Amino acid sequence: MTFDYLIVGAGFAGSVLAERLARDAGRRVLLIDRRRHVGGNAYDEHDAAGVLVHRYGPHIFHTNSREVLSYLSRFTEWRAYEHRVLASVDGKLVPIPINLDTVNSLYGWSLTPEELGEYFARQAEPVERIRTSEDVVVSKIGRTLYEKFFRGYTRKHWGLDPAQLDASVAGRIPVRTDRDDRYFTDEYQCMPLHGYTRLFENMLDHPNITLELGVDYRDVIGSLRVGEIVYTGPVDEFFEHRFGRLPYRSLRFEHETYEVAQHQPVAVINYPQDRPYTRVTEYKHLTGQSHPRTSVSYEYALAEGEPYYPIPRPENAALYARYKALADATPGVHFAGRLGTYRYYNMDQVVGQALATYAKLRGAPSWVHVA
Ligand code: FAD
Ligand code: UDP
Repeated sequence: MTFDYLIVGAGFAGSVLAERLARDAGRRVLLIDRRRHVGGNAYDEHDAAGVLVHRYGPHIFHTNSREVLSYLSRFTEWRAYEHRVLASVDGKLVPIPINLDTVNSLYGWSLTPEELGEYFARQAEPVERIRTSEDVVVSKIGRTLYEKFFRGYTRKHWGLDPAQLDASVAGRIPVRTDRDDRYFTDEYQCMPLHGYTRLFENMLDHPNITLELGVDYRDVIGSLRVGEIVYTGPVDEFFEHRFGRLPYRSLRFEHETYEVAQHQPVAVINYPQDRPYTRVTEYKHLTGQSHPRTSVSYEYALAEGEPYYPIPRPENAALYARYKALADATPGVHFAGRLGTYRYYNMDQVVGQALATYAKLRGAPSWVHVA
């Protein structure tokens, strides 16, 4: 059978490109994934108790892009959901991002927003040029709160001190002087009404798309006569680690089901201090499912294992730049997604990037022949 495109990876990057190439451009697409399911890290499923869980940790959709939202809305309805997270600090559960209630309940104070602004200004350490995740936090709120909320969590999650990570990492988390306790402030915040996997199934339901799961690119590429490839796996793996391995952070999840309807007050509790895990997620808050039982996952960070996070720091950016130059010089192969372009991207950014990649690909002649 002949295909116009081979797409490696059925996460958001690969699935959006498969859908656009098949439905919009009329191309025949072979989409493969080495996992036995679609959706990449956004995959969700019903566990043994019948609770809808995210197998690879909590995925909350949020975006400021009307284009991304309206594109995805072709494949799902949405349920309104605004994410709220608590941090377990000094024996208390307090809002993160740090806001007025966080500081007042942590210290038993009753500051006003203005007073909190002044307090932060007194605590803040001057930093001439903000380069690292330590800089970005201590320059706003000082070292005491940095150590309580950021240093331990970051060391656990990344295996690195915040001083070793780009400012963009901890910079994802704002600091507020008001009582807004939402994790994200994007204009659009919602969850796919019937889950992510259903969204992907709808997206990929097209006669021009052939989906093969449990298939690794490295095992099949020898038997394919390949014209154009879209590759959304790790870019260094594609080039057989020619310049050395790009570092990724991996995760392990312990999933538990409890015989109660609710385990914790919000979907996610972060543990920046004493526990071995970074966060605990209770999925029913995200999905809105009613069920007499509830399922949670405990998230542990790992140095080895499946790649989940590119690690933003200067030496990794320099190594990626070498792979990027090689990728740019490799005709007929297009790299996309969080692993393919080594970017700490959220889902909406991956969808936006895939739509932009499609705009570039459109019109280019291509073919793949499966022997
Ligand atoms: P992936 O989803 O990783 O898909 C890549 C696919 O390629 C995988 O399925 C993999 O099996 C396959 N593959 C790789 N190599 C090969 C090969 N050689 N052969 C065949 N198949 C291969 N984003 C948000 O917007 N909100 C969130 O709340 C959020 N939470 C997150 C929580 C966690 C724990 C993690 C890890 C990520 C989170 N993200 C979140 C980010 C989100 O998961 C990604 O932006 C998005 O899923 C990336 O899509 P992708 O297609 O680039 O990659
Ligand atoms: N972070 C932290 N403490 C927290 C939450 C976040 O130190 O309670 C830092 C940490 O370095 C983390 C980064 O901010 O990796 C980004 O957090 P986010 O919740 O966006 O991470 P993700 O959901 O992508 O794992």
